Amino acid sequence: MPEDDLVMLDSHNEAMLIHNLRVRYEANSLYTWVGAARSVLISVNPYKKLPLYGKDQIKLHQNRPPNKPLPPHVFDIAHDSYQSMMFENKDQSILISGESGAGKTVCTKQCLDFLAEVAGSESGVEEKIVMANPLLEAFGNAQTIRNNNSSRFGKWIEVHFDNMERSIQSAVIIDYLLEKSRVVYQQEGERNYHVFYQLCDSGSASDLGLGEASTYEYLNKSGCYKAKDIDDVQEHDEVLKAMDLLGFSAAEKEFVLRLTAGVLTLGNIQFDEKAEKGSVTGSAIREDGPLSAAASFLNVTEEDLAAVLCYRSISVRGKTSTIPLDPSKARKGCDSLAMGVYSRLFSFLVQRVNDALAGKQGKFIGILDIFGFEIFDQNSFEQLCINFANEKLQQQFNRTTFKEEEALYMKEGIEFEHVEFIDNQAVLDLIEARPNGILLMIDDEIKIPEGSDAGFLNKIETLYKRNSKFQTDKHRKIQNSFNFEIEHYAGVVNYNGDGFMDKNTDTLYQDMYDMCASSESPEMQQLFPPMEHRRQMVSLSSQFRRSLNELMESLYSTESRYIRCVKPNKDQVPDRFQSPMVIDQLRYSGVFEAVEIRKTGFPFRLTYSVFACRYSCINKGHTYRSRDEVELAKEILSTSKQNFDDVQFGKTMVLYRAREYKILELLRNLA
Ligand code: ATP
Ligand code: MG
Repeated sequence: MPEDDLVMLDSHNEAMLIHNLRVRYEANSLYTWVGAARSVLISVNPYKKLPLYGKDQIKLHQNRPPNKPLPPHVFDIAHDSYQSMMFENKDQSILISGESGAGKTVCTKQCLDFLAEVAGSESGVEEKIVMANPLLEAFGNAQTIRNNNSSRFGKWIEVHFDNMERSIQSAVIIDYLLEKSRVVYQQEGERNYHVFYQLCDSGSASDLGLGEASTYEYLNKSGCYKAKDIDDVQEHDEVLKAMDLLGFSAAEKEFVLRLTAGVLTLGNIQFDEKAEKGSVTGSAIREDGPLSAAASFLNVTEEDLAAVLCYRSISVRGKTSTIPLDPSKARKGCDSLAMGVYSRLFSFLVQRVNDALAGKQGKFIGILDIFGFEIFDQNSFEQLCINFANEKLQQQFNRTTFKEEEALYMKEGIEFEHVEFIDNQAVLDLIEARPNGILLMIDDEIKIPEGSDAGFLNKIETLYKRNSKFQTDKHRKIQNSFNFEIEHYAGVVNYNGDGFMDKNTDTLYQDMYDMCASSESPEMQQLFPPMEHRRQMVSLSSQFRRSLNELMESLYSTESRYIRCVKPNKDQVPDRFQSPMVIDQLRYSGVFEAVEIRKTGFPFRLTYSVFACRYSCINKGHTYRSRDEVELAKEILSTSKQNFDDVQFGKTMVLYRAREYKILELLRNLA
C-alpha cells in the first residue's frame, strides 16, 4: 500500500520514494507528506481536472474529523497555517517551489481560495486578492514551451488578518524579477505577455486603433499567436473587470492600455542608415506611422521620441554632446525603451493592486510563488539570480528544519544523533559576500567606464581560482566564450557571462527617461518621477539582493510550511509519470534530504497523556500500576512484548520513529 507520508516507508532509498509517489499518482493521489509534522508537502501536477478543490472540499479540510484521517491535501497546508497563526499567534509562511509548469501558481491560488473561504471579511478584500490574479497574470504571464501560462515574475503575497476576528483585513504583494527581455524577444513556440494578444484580439483593438497580432514585430517572430487553453478575449474582459474592482479610474485604465499599446508599437519603428556630419552613420526613421502612433500612446511628442531614438547625449568631463546612433544601436535603444516602459508599467500595476488591498495589518500568512532552480543549456544572468534565490531558500529550509528538530530534542532533554547539516553558505558567499561576491563584482563592473563582460569574468576568475564551488570553463580561452561554472546545491550550472553587464543595468538612457518624465500625462509622471535619474546607476543585482534579503528576514520570523511541486512529464499531459525527471526535481528541492533529516530524528511525538490515551488499550487485560505518566508510558511499552528500545522519553512527550509507530498502530488495531 502506498504511504501518504514518505517518512513512513520502510526503506528510504530514492527508488522506493519515487515508486511510492508513482503508485499514488496513478491513483490520482497527488499529495504526499514528508514527515508527520505536516510541514512539507509534495504535490504532483495531474494535468487534468480532479474534483478536489470545491467548497465542499474546503469545508471538509477545515473541519477535519479528528479520528478519520483525510488524504494529504494542499488545503491542509493552508488550514494548518491558519490554525497556527490563530493559536500560536505567529506569522506564517507557505513556500511553494518547483520548476516551470509544476503547479506553483495553481497551488498559490488554492491556498488563497481556502483562506478567502474560511476567513473572508465584510470588506470583501479577499475577492480583490483573488481578482488581482487575472490582472497581474495578463501582464506577467506568457506561454512558454514549458507552460502555457508561465509566470515570468516571482511573487510574495502577504495576507493580513484581524487579530481578534481572524478575518482577512488586507494584503501586500511584492514582485520579483519580471522577465523584461520577453517584451522584445521570444524564442520559437513561445508568446509575449498575454496582454498584447488580448489587446489585438478584443474590442480594445479598435478603440486603440491596433492591428492584428501578426502585424507587430514584437509578436510575429516566434510563430505562435494562440496559447493552449487560453481565451484571450475572455481573459481581457476579466482584466477590465479586475481593474474596475480594484478601483482603477477610467483614466488609469485607459493609460494602462495605451501604454501597453505604445510598447507594442515601438517594435514597429524601423531605422534606415543616414549619413551624418563627417563620415558618421546615423539613423533615419523609415515610416512616420509607427513613430506617431507610439508617441501618441506614450503621450510624448513625435520629435522628442525620434530624437531619443536616433541620438544619444554623452557626457565627457562635464561637457554634454550628442552623437548619432547607427540603425542597429537605434534598434537596441528602442527595445530598451520598450522594456523599461513595460517594467515600470508592471510595477505601477502592482502598486495600484497594493493600494486596493491596503488596510489594517495584523498577523499574516505569506505565500511565496517563485521560480525554482534552473539548469538550461544556456544559462545567463537571470538564471544566476534565480538560482541564487533558490540557494537562499534552500538554506532557510535546511536551517529551519534542523534547528527546529534539534531545539525540540534539547528541550525534551533526549539524546539525539547530531546530523551534519548541509549548509550552502559557501556558495552564497561566492555569490553575495561583500565586497567580492560575483553579484557585487558585476555591480562594480558597470560603474567603471571601461567595464565589460570580459573584464568582469577575468576578475572573478582571478579571485575564485581556488574556490571549490567555482570554475571557469576550461575551453573558454580557445572558444573565446565567457563561461563559468558554479556548483550549486542542486548541481553544477554553466553560466555564459555574455551580456551580464547589459542585463544587470536597469537604467533607461538619460534622454529616454527625461523624455518620458516630460510627458504631460500625470500617470506617466508617476511612472517617471523627476528626481529618479539623479540617483546612482541602479543595478538589477543590487535591487534583487535587497528585496531577497528583506524577504529572507521576514521568512525567518515566520513559521514555514513548504509545498514542493513536481512536474511528472515534459509534455504537459495527464497520466504520464517519468521517474528520472521526478528524481531530479526532488533532488533540487531538497526532498531527499528532508526525508533523511526526519528519519534520523524522531518524527513521532505524542505528549504523555495523549500517548496513554491512545495506546493503553494495546495490553488487553493488563492492570496498570504506574502513577506517574512517564512510568505509565514505559509500562505500556514494556508489557507489549515488542522491541521498543529506541523509544525516547522526553520531559513532556514520548518520541519515536516510523517503525515503532507502525507496531503501535498495529497493536492498537488488533486490540
Ligand atoms: P511557472 O513557473 O511556469 O509559472 P507554475 O509552477 O506556476 O509554472 P502552474 O501555472 O501553476 O505552474 O501550472 C501549470 C499548469 O498545470 C496549469 O495551467 C494547469 O493546467 C496544470 N495544473 C497545475 N496544478 C494542477 C492541479 N492541481 N490540477 C489540475 N491541473 C493542474
Ligand atoms: Mg506560475
